[in-house]
Amino acid sequence: MPDSQYISELKNRITERNPNQTEFMQAVTEILDNVAEELEDNDEYRRYRIFERLTEPDRIISFKVEWLDDRGCAQLNRGWRVQQSNLIGPYKGGLRFHPTVSESVIKFLAFEQCFKNALTGLPLGGGKGGSDFDPKGRSDHEIMSFCQAFMTQLYRHIGANVDVPAGDINVGAREIGFLYGQYRKIRNQFSGVLTGKAIEMGGSLVRTEATGFGVIYFLQHVLEHKELQLEGLTLTISGAGNVALFAAKKALEQGAKVITLSNSRGVLFKDNGFSNDDIEWLIKYDNIKDNTLLSFAEERDGEWRAGEKPWQYKCDVAVPCATQNEMNGEEASTLIKNGCKVVICGANMPCTSEAIEAIHNAKNCCYIPGKASNAGGVAVSGLEMSQNAGFESQTFEYLDGRLRDIMKHIHGQCVKCGESDTGDVNYERGASVAGFHILAKAMLAQGV
Ligand code: GLU
Repeated sequence: MPDSQYISELKNRITERNPNQTEFMQAVTEILDNVAEELEDNDEYRRYRIFERLTEPDRIISFKVEWLDDRGCAQLNRGWRVQQSNLIGPYKGGLRFHPTVSESVIKFLAFEQCFKNALTGLPLGGGKGGSDFDPKGRSDHEIMSFCQAFMTQLYRHIGANVDVPAGDINVGAREIGFLYGQYRKIRNQFSGVLTGKAIEMGGSLVRTEATGFGVIYFLQHVLEHKELQLEGLTLTISGAGNVALFAAKKALEQGAKVITLSNSRGVLFKDNGFSNDDIEWLIKYDNIKDNTLLSFAEERDGEWRAGEKPWQYKCDVAVPCATQNEMNGEEASTLIKNGCKVVICGANMPCTSEAIEAIHNAKNCCYIPGKASNAGGVAVSGLEMSQNAGFESQTFEYLDGRLRDIMKHIHGQCVKCGESDTGDVNYERGASVAGFHILAKAMLAQGV
């Protein structure tokens, strides 16, 4: 019977194989610590080195992206697609365009994506891609040139049954349109090779709203399990993109109050809470203004606090929807001190290990990892794939209903695998264990 020595040796081996990949190792360690008991209890998992094999991507594709800017100068970026695992479906996951993108960041996202996608119950494998390209300040024409150059490199590695990229940070319907156009021209094929497409070209209703709505549907189950309700609660939300804005919209619809949104430059704080009109205004001007939140404060109301983050404000629920490691241990402790009951992730790995530890150590606060709570986006991507495969399109009501069912299903799995004897649910453990069992079973069944 192995003891924790097995786990620490395993951790050392994975660390040695992935030197200097901080974010990737953070994601691996988080899941490994949560599935340690399952590995210790299961001889087959150890004999077939299931966990270790899951951490190794099937392949990492990296390529150079050359394009011309508006001044006619050549620009050079680096692109990646990490095809982590197609054990349970085609590789599936978004593309991120951001200067912080590195191989380690894409690998952590691809690894997490496998567990998240498994939890949806849909046949979706895990992958992720992106580039260190910074779209800030670039014209539409430059964005198009970049997307075309990126797809010219990527097209040979993807396909509707092979690998289906989608959006992530700074990749929305506009970028997906440019990427899709280039793929169609090169391949002379109209297929569901990307999701997050516009409705006119095979996109799905509810895809835009899905991640944010899904977070709130999940939150409602968490609160219900604690015999609480969302109506009347105060939320602090970080971020100002798709996830944050649609989470805010759904939360307001359910009678909650949202007092913050944020971007890399500061926080927009509204003491009496945003109205639905406010959120519609922000959705409308997202991507059009240089700093939509600052413009909101100048043109409408609310306070713009440059350089600040949302975690110092008193709230019942904190919803980090910006990016990885945006909340540290100290900020989590402040939230807990101020009475926060739930930290639910809209972004992928937004809490540092110290923040997660602080939340776990708090009696009255629980932590919901993104692989459970933000799975609504990829879930509706899966529904977009099946609509494309069947050359059909479903109604908003049908798709929203499926999204609700999927979030409920994920919540159920977290409770099943993460509930203690006292009835408390460790959602991080529940999500990791449930996702791991699905992947491990598929790996064992398919042989070495
Ligand atoms: N980027 C999103 C995520 O982190 C969505 C991926 C997709 O739709 O494939 O899950």
